[in-house]
Amino acid sequence: RVAVVGAGVCGLAATKCCLDEGLEPTCFERSKDIGGLWRYTEHIEAGRPSLYPSVISNTSKEMSAFSDFPFPEHFPVFLPNALLLDYLRRYAERFGLREHIRLGSTVVSIRQQPDFATTGRWEVVTEEGGKQTSHVFDAVMVCSGNFSEPSLPLHCFPGIERFRGQHFHSRQYKRPDVFQGRRVLVVGMGNSGVDIAVEASRVAAKVTISTTRGAWLVSRVFEHGYPWDMILNTRLMSLIKTKLPAPLAWWLMNYKVNQWFNHENYGLQPENSWRVREPVLNDDLPSYILTGRITIKPGVKEFKDSSVLFHNCPEEEPIDVVVFCTGYNVSFPFLEESVVRVENKHASLYKYVFPTHLQQPTLAVLGLIKPLGAMMPLVEMQARWVTRVFKGLCQLPSQSVMEKEVNEQKKNQVQWFGLTFDEVLKTEWLVYLDTLASFIGAKPSVLGLLCTDPWLALTIFFGPCSPYQYRLGGPGHWQGARQAILTQWDRVLKPTRTRVPAASSSSFPSLLAVLGLLLLLAAVIFGF
Ligand code: NAP
Repeated sequence: RVAVVGAGVCGLAATKCCLDEGLEPTCFERSKDIGGLWRYTEHIEAGRPSLYPSVISNTSKEMSAFSDFPFPEHFPVFLPNALLLDYLRRYAERFGLREHIRLGSTVVSIRQQPDFATTGRWEVVTEEGGKQTSHVFDAVMVCSGNFSEPSLPLHCFPGIERFRGQHFHSRQYKRPDVFQGRRVLVVGMGNSGVDIAVEASRVAAKVTISTTRGAWLVSRVFEHGYPWDMILNTRLMSLIKTKLPAPLAWWLMNYKVNQWFNHENYGLQPENSWRVREPVLNDDLPSYILTGRITIKPGVKEFKDSSVLFHNCPEEEPIDVVVFCTGYNVSFPFLEESVVRVENKHASLYKYVFPTHLQQPTLAVLGLIKPLGAMMPLVEMQARWVTRVFKGLCQLPSQSVMEKEVNEQKKNQVQWFGLTFDEVLKTEWLVYLDTLASFIGAKPSVLGLLCTDPWLALTIFFGPCSPYQYRLGGPGHWQGARQAILTQWDRVLKPTRTRVPAASSSSFPSLLAVLGLLLLLAAVIFGF
């Protein structure tokens, strides 16, 4: 019996993977419906993430799908939040998840049972309609998300207490009408900050973004109009990123992201390397900077009564309203610190999932990672691995080995890239997926396929690493995987080629044939 905390993307994947492995999941969801982050509500509910209605997914539908459940072909390539929720509902229906989900049930505490050392069991206390109930579970999957608790570090902004204008956190934002005719300052250049600044600039008198670190800006519409992640998240690109000498890989990435526009000229150049922070996905910002709708400034030095001073800028900027797009804190209020300790938004978890010090590997945290790629297939892969660990079909290394890896990871990244803990959560998307897939025996073998199914092998190596690749073999093998891979471009083109009938395939596969020879070369140079 497995307790799943939360029925968002992670919780649904966890429930489904439990069922696949013959485990018995009970998914507790504190709100009245499934969907988590992606269920938009007009009112902000305590303990739940809050979206603005215009949010569109940053990753394309082919790269974001659960690995055995492609998005409907008529869905747009990047998904408005309502369609993403629609997909999650279809997923829950298709795999019969609803009957395992208890809506309106809040997990209050999760504690080890006295006989934990031998049984690995947990006591889970839930609250429903004001009544608390205690349950015992063999294992727990924590899928409660990390976008509910806003991080509002006002102490980092001298003078904010005397600023007489309005200020609020991006979590409070719904629509741009609050900015009508006003001078707006957006603090923080993450995805929320840029989305909100762009919307505000359509009605505001002036919009300024303050960023301490800058960021790479990537367009959803990437080379030749293809989705960015279907071009960048390929096995070939991953090899280049991870195997080329760092300066060369860095130069290539730098070259690629600056092809759209020169980040330095637009005041956006990140302080550090590619890995320092998540790129920002936005198609409008460069043109809004060019047309003077949005101005980019450095970090805030000080707030005055009705203006702000920026570092290295002598003039004060008059401001009426400030939106702090300063991200979110991570917390697990139902868990004891001795089980999962969060420090600077980071928890020491083996492969971002398992606490390293428990006597039994029966508690897992899903989704506490910031990959440079789609979340849904990644948390699904975590769930596939976790359920097999729970069943005893996969073993974790010893505590010391896990601790060493977690510490090395922290140390190396900080050492090499000057990162804070927050950035430790970032990892190479494809390498991470492959690593977990290899634990459960679901990693596709490109060389093996080259002998048995060369066309598929080439598509897998040169084409996007769509999640269906992880259902070609091994546990959870899905009959439709090969077909889903070979038709992935058709589903991308279907919703856009609406004036003329879509050809059966894009030009991409023919390109693959030409590049086929390179595969052999790559195999020789890098090895698989
Ligand atoms: P975020 O990515 O965590 O960015 C927060 C930013 O706030 C930081 O990058 C930093 O910006 C600034 N900041 C933080 N602490 C600060 C401090 N003490 N002083 C000054 N500035 C500080 O937060 P977010 O943009 O809300 O995004 C949260 C998550 O949701 C991300 O993973 C994001 O990709 C995701 N998201 C997705 C979508 C979408 O799918 N369409 C939309 C929105 C958000 P600077 O370094 O620039 O100063």
